[in-house]
Amino acid sequence: MNIHEYQAKAVLAQFGVQVPQGKVAFTVEEAVEAAKELGGKAVVKAQIHAGGRGKAGGVKLAKSLEEVEQHARELLGKTLVTHQTGPEGKVVKRLLIEQLTDIQKEYYIGLVLDRSQGRVVMMASQEGGVEIEEVAAKHPEKIFRETIDPATGLNAFQASNLAFKLELPPTAVRKAVQFMMALYQAYIAKDCSIAEINPLVLTGDGDILALDAKLNFDDNALYRHKDIVALRDPDEEDPKEIEASKFDLTYIALDGNIGCMVNGAGLAMATMDTIKYYGGAPANFLDVGGGASEEKVTAAFKIILSDPNVKGILVNIFGGIMKCDVIANGVIAAAKQVGLDKPLVVRLEGTNVEQGKEILNGSGLEIVAADSLADAAQKIVGLV
Ligand code: GDP
Ligand code: MN
Repeated sequence: MNIHEYQAKAVLAQFGVQVPQGKVAFTVEEAVEAAKELGGKAVVKAQIHAGGRGKAGGVKLAKSLEEVEQHARELLGKTLVTHQTGPEGKVVKRLLIEQLTDIQKEYYIGLVLDRSQGRVVMMASQEGGVEIEEVAAKHPEKIFRETIDPATGLNAFQASNLAFKLELPPTAVRKAVQFMMALYQAYIAKDCSIAEINPLVLTGDGDILALDAKLNFDDNALYRHKDIVALRDPDEEDPKEIEASKFDLTYIALDGNIGCMVNGAGLAMATMDTIKYYGGAPANFLDVGGGASEEKVTAAFKIILSDPNVKGILVNIFGGIMKCDVIANGVIAAAKQVGLDKPLVVRLEGTNVEQGKEILNGSGLEIVAADSLADAAQKIVGLV
């Protein structure tokens, strides 16, 4: 799960990470009011779940309240297209009104989980404020890394190592070390998957500040972070994915036109591969899980049907813990509630398969039965 920059800064500040003073604004009036509190000058920053705002005109410096008003008016409601939003862009609905920072130099600090090592890695670079992916590709030697032992956490000497490699002035090294330690505390305490400060800045006064902040959270740990879940912005997420999360379904929208309802992540991946193999394209990844109830299956089927890109549906269920008759009842309940006007191919196998097939046959729905995964994929690709 992602949150906005202003929210990330508030979370980080709880752990002692230094951030500029600022406030969120949903209207032009709120933006001006917030700038007044900062003494009239401010930076006006579009809040969307994407980076690259600076280059796209989403970060504006204002030297007066009139300029704050002007920038706020221009940005609110604007569709901002950055290299991270895709061509359709994202509509700006919130602004961060922040005190101006006197930037001496911009740096990069990031924390990520390195899955090959199974450890969190802190990365630092003097190439701040630019796309770090580009630095990594062209000048990997300019990114410094410290791998963190989970038993000890980030050690002060590791943070010092990075601070020295950034060639910070001696007076700023201690501040940078404190910054990194606090960032790591926040990352662990909130079960982040990414914490990225780009740029981290050295100010004219020799302070170290997070000028930008991006936090991603591990969805599997959200159940123990109600405060983070409360920061979810539905405008920034696919409504189908939000609906799916309410029912504990693992759903990811994709670009294709074949809706898939599958149980088990492995089978879902195999189903998508097989659809691709026969020339089709899946509209989603959907894992209804092991012990899904009829209610959950109904919700899943409705989510698939609500996607206008879906031109046909493939249900591929291996009944183990999950029973085929439950799936059959869920499919029928959903089809009756929303109306099924698209081809539906069903492949059932396993526990209660005969009952499941009987239920589907007696439903009056137009269902194409399939015997194997290959057969099912070929049939739905043909129909779509
Ligand atoms: P991003 O482009 O979406 O990553 O947005 P950032 O928050 O990183 O801002 C982009 C750039 O705007 C930064 O790299 C800075 O150069 C600039 N910027 C942001 N805030 C200030 C500020 O208070 N003063 C100055 N001078 N520049 C700023
Ligand atoms: Mn940035």
